[in-house]
Amino acid sequence: MIRIAIDGPSGSGKSTLAKAVARELGIIYVDTGALYRTVGYFVYANGKDPHNAYEVEALLPNVQIELKYENGSQRVILNGEDLGDKIRMPEMSMYASAVSSIPAVRQFLLEMQKKMARENSVVMDGRDIGTVIIPDADLKIFLVASNETRAKRRTLELLEKGVETTYEDVLVDMTERDKQDKNRDIAPAVPADDAIIFDNSEMSVEESLVEIKRLLNERK
Ligand code: C5P
Repeated sequence: MIRIAIDGPSGSGKSTLAKAVARELGIIYVDTGALYRTVGYFVYANGKDPHNAYEVEALLPNVQIELKYENGSQRVILNGEDLGDKIRMPEMSMYASAVSSIPAVRQFLLEMQKKMARENSVVMDGRDIGTVIIPDADLKIFLVASNETRAKRRTLELLEKGVETTYEDVLVDMTERDKQDKNRDIAPAVPADDAIIFDNSEMSVEESLVEIKRLLNERK
């Protein structure tokens, strides 16, 4: 079993790197942000306020989430419906961030994530993987990149998905969301004490992958 935690702010390149590592090692890549996005989507679809802990908590008994893996990609099924790219809409980022600071939501998604990491070799990315979900991971990476690099990457990613947006809007949203994630009371998005801070602003995915493999070998 091998378990790798990749945490870091939005747009730091977590999912691209985590996917590449998972492919290289032949293990599962788990995108935990998708779980918070799914809860956010459900709150949105029900017309509720994502900041209202009481309203959000009341919806949780009606939420059933399943994760499916096919050809290295993860699909999220909410109450039997494959959500596809719906959870990638820019509004869903803020909904996800808002609901993720509600303790009942984190508790609701906790066991599912821990179970995935208990039963499989995984590369998991998120905000609290190294601190809460896999505190005994084989390797913990906290991925960072400059604000400019992150906003550029996010903008390109969204445009490629056909979402109309601008660099300026992405930068504002991203900064706001990171502030919220970093400063929340529960599971704040901060590095674990034993995480390696990894700045990939000036690195290609291939270069980062080589470095991750080196760090992994060093740990073994
Ligand atoms: O990673 P992604 O940008 O898809 O995550 C969306 C939001 O979900 C984050 O801004 C964060 O608030 C929340 N999240 C979290 N813990 C995780 C993964 C995501 O709080 N492990």
